[in-house]
Amino acid sequence: MYALAIHGGAGTIDRDKMSPDMEVAYREGLAAALKAGEDILKNGGSSLDAVTAAVIELENCPLYNAGRGAVFNSVGEHELDASLMSGSDLKAGAVCGVQLVKNPILLARCVMEQSEHVMMAGKGAEKFARLQHIEFEKPEYFHTDFRYQQWLAIRDTDEFQLDHTLASNRKMGTVGAVARDKDGHLAAATSTGGMTNKKFGRVGDSPIIGAGTYANDATCAISCTGHGELFIKAVVAYDISCLMEYKGLTLQKACEQVVMDKLVKIGGEGGLVAVDKNGHIEMPFNSSGMYRAKVREGEEMRVEIYKG
Ligand code: ASP
Repeated sequence: MYALAIHGGAGTIDRDKMSPDMEVAYREGLAAALKAGEDILKNGGSSLDAVTAAVIELENCPLYNAGRGAVFNSVGEHELDASLMSGSDLKAGAVCGVQLVKNPILLARCVMEQSEHVMMAGKGAEKFARLQHIEFEKPEYFHTDFRYQQWLAIRDTDEFQLDHTLASNRKMGTVGAVARDKDGHLAAATSTGGMTNKKFGRVGDSPIIGAGTYANDATCAISCTGHGELFIKAVVAYDISCLMEYKGLTLQKACEQVVMDKLVKIGGEGGLVAVDKNGHIEMPFNSSGMYRAKVREGEEMRVEIYKG
């Protein structure tokens, strides 16, 4: 039995601030990404291929803060982070602070499959990308007016904020996917532009294995979205896996403990998508909303944004 869940960021997402057209566009983006991943799982493909395909789709969608549509940092540039992990062999790949790479998740996968390393950063990672024939884009490709206006509003302050902000609402928009394939293997992938007006060189939780991304066939696969600094401190993704492995908690109880209690206590706003070895899906968040979608073999796909 296969299962797939994706997210497009969590945060303050108010129904009354969202126009019907925007809501339709966000939903369509999620549905297309879920379908891209599900098509692979349906045909007996691997969870790793499914999460990669779903994340590529979201990276290419300008509404989400990853790849095209990524937020601007404090000097008006895009610095992208991504990671993925395979639960069957604990192989992982990650990149951080890369620029002009069209699909950072593909570069993270290349690091995992074509290098001896787990994580590569900045210029070195870009050099490696060119050697691997990874696609690059011009700066204009990543520029969206929406993100630019967000940045203009706070660029002269020391503030940095979670993206997707509408008016004064704070939202986040990293993208991610977790899957269980028909063979029972789990995988997780996460990709982000980080937070609007972040300091140059700042890296959040998304490319950090164990913080923003984790997968282990013995427990679960997790992809996070939220205030990265707090997610790093709480080692969110690995903590959930550990609660299952060492304490015998169910995925649901482990998620609840970490997202609704541990993170809340330290002010860590956000959420995650998770799947366990039996294909059970959880999508908890402690913010007012999270763009999310899920599907399990034989079930209808569900796309959701708000609480409840
Ligand atoms: N977790 C991401 C970061 O801190 C941001 C997000 O999820 O929106 O870079």
